[in-house]
Amino acid sequence: MSAPTAAPSHDGIAGVYKPQPVDVPTPRVRGAAAGIGGAAEDLTPLERAERFRQIREGTLGSIHSWELVTAVDGPGTRMTMFMSGCPLRCVYCHNPDTFQMKDGTMQSLSDIVDRIRRYRKIFRATKGGVTISGGEPLFQTPFVRNVLRACKEMGVHTCVDTSGFLGARADDAMLDDVDLFLLDVKSGIPEIYKKVTERDLEPTIAFGDRLAARGNKIWIRFVLVPGWTDSVENVEAVADIVARWKNVVERVEVLPFHNMGQDKWENLGLDYKLVGLTPPDTDTVKRVREQFRSRGLTVF
Ligand code: SF4
Repeated sequence: MSAPTAAPSHDGIAGVYKPQPVDVPTPRVRGAAAGIGGAAEDLTPLERAERFRQIREGTLGSIHSWELVTAVDGPGTRMTMFMSGCPLRCVYCHNPDTFQMKDGTMQSLSDIVDRIRRYRKIFRATKGGVTISGGEPLFQTPFVRNVLRACKEMGVHTCVDTSGFLGARADDAMLDDVDLFLLDVKSGIPEIYKKVTERDLEPTIAFGDRLAARGNKIWIRFVLVPGWTDSVENVEAVADIVARWKNVVERVEVLPFHNMGQDKWENLGLDYKLVGLTPPDTDTVKRVREQFRSRGLTVF
C-alpha cells in the first residue's frame, strides 16, 4: 500500500466539517480481486455494478464477524461488529483476517439492523449497545454511517473503535451519531507509528483534535508492545497527545501485548514479526500507566 498523498485536514473547531480525501485503496469493480467482498469474481458485470452501487450508498457492507461481549468495547453488554478492510498493518494485529474487505461476508443493512433490534432489551438492561470495530470501521463509511443512524433511531448506544486514520471520511452528522469513540493511539512518535502500522500518525492526531473540539467522548487505547512501543519517550509522546484531549477522554486503557494473533498471521501466509515476543512485565505496565496518570488521566 502507498502512503497517503493527501493528509486529511480539519477546521479544528466545532462547526461545518468538509471531509477531505485520503489516499487509501477503495473498492473497485473491475477484476477478480475486485475488493468488494464475497466471491465477486462469480458475478456478472451487471451484478458487480449493482453490488458496487449498494456499497457506495451504504446498504451493503462487508462484515468479518459479530460478538456479544460484556465489560469490553464500551459500557454494558455490547454487540461488537467487526468490519472487513483496514488501511493499517499493525505488527501486533489480532485480526489480520480483517485486512481485506474482499475477505468479509456481504450483508445487507436491513439484516444488520434487524439483528441489532433483537438485542435492544439486553442493551437497555445493561446500559450497553453496539460497537463497530474491525478492521477499520471508517473504511466502509457509507455503510457504517447508516448503521449508526439506525442505532440512534432505535435508541441504541453506539461506539466506534478506530485508529482515526480515516477520520476525515466521517462528516459531522456521522460523528453526532457516535456516543463514544474507542480511539487507538498506537504510538506518539511519528517514526515509531510508521514502523508499527506502516501509516502516518498525523491523521489520528487531527481526528482526536476534531473530536475534542466537538465534545465527542473518547476512551483511548494504547497497546504496549515490548521493544516497539514501550520506550519512555514514546509513551510520553502518546500521553502528551492524549492530554490535549482531556476534556473528552474518559479513560485510557493500556493493553499489554499478547501473542494471540500469531496463528492467524501464519495461516494467512503473512510475515509475523513478533514471533517469540513475550508480554510486557508488570513493572513496565505499571510505569506506563503512571506516565498517563501523571497527566491527570484516568487509566485502566
Ligand atoms: S488498525 Fe486494528 S485491524 Fe487494522 S491492522 Fe491495526 S490492529 Fe489490525
